[in-house]
Amino acid sequence: MCWLKKKSEKSEYAEVTENEEIISVEQQEIVTDDAETFQELEEEESAHYGSVANRDLVVLLDNGHASSTAGKRSPKLEDGTQLFEYEFNRDIVARLSRLLDAEGIHYEILVPEIDTDIALSKRAARANAFCDKYGVTNCLFISVHANAYGNGAEWTTPNGWEVYTCVGNTKSDAVATMFWEEAKKVLPTMGKKVRNGKNQPAGNDGPDYEANFTVLVKTNCPAILTENMFYTNKEECEWLLSDEGREAITKIHLNGIKRWIASKS
Ligand SMILES: [Zn+2]
Repeated sequence: MCWLKKKSEKSEYAEVTENEEIISVEQQEIVTDDAETFQELEEEESAHYGSVANRDLVVLLDNGHASSTAGKRSPKLEDGTQLFEYEFNRDIVARLSRLLDAEGIHYEILVPEIDTDIALSKRAARANAFCDKYGVTNCLFISVHANAYGNGAEWTTPNGWEVYTCVGNTKSDAVATMFWEEAKKVLPTMGKKVRNGKNQPAGNDGPDYEANFTVLVKTNCPAILTENMFYTNKEECEWLLSDEGREAITKIHLNGIKRWIASKS
């Protein structure tokens, strides 16, 4: 979410300088005096929308790109395998959705398409339809990506995890900070870096990076975009291809979402 509306569509990629620093649900009133029936209804509700406490909050999950998107893939590893960003983003969202189901947290997957790359403004429009339905203060938009640097043909050194909001002080900043803090709990213990976006750009006082990416600017609810390491860094690419890496990235998102829900109560 951004109150400072900007017009241009921009690449969601951060720019990296030579020194590798980034410059760049409805509660239904159930009236019954039949305790057994009430219990059954509660359980059925929970299967879809979560606990009573979570029922009004909705996580909007955007998985970037499609199989048809040019680029957005790593160089090939020795065995010929490579990371395709659309697959990574969808797998993280799929893993996350299973954990959210287990927690009873309401989510919506904004881009079920795999082969068609849905335009950024259309992704935001889909998010805003849910904001209209559930209330703008009850929704959180999360766009899941992995980062890249260089020409895509060669491995490069930039590395680490980042979270973005749009430029300026908005309600998204506090949510981004929650995700950043959760990343700090998980990644350094695994030898991975969490990048701090303070003063990126100048004046930004949080650990998030700020850029006017279309999905962040055009979405009406608080919105963040995670750049989950660099798949153009060989070591990180191998980690992002691993089950361990994907579970860690998924956990950061789940824990961030739970922090956001706790902050709303
Ligand atoms: Zn991306």
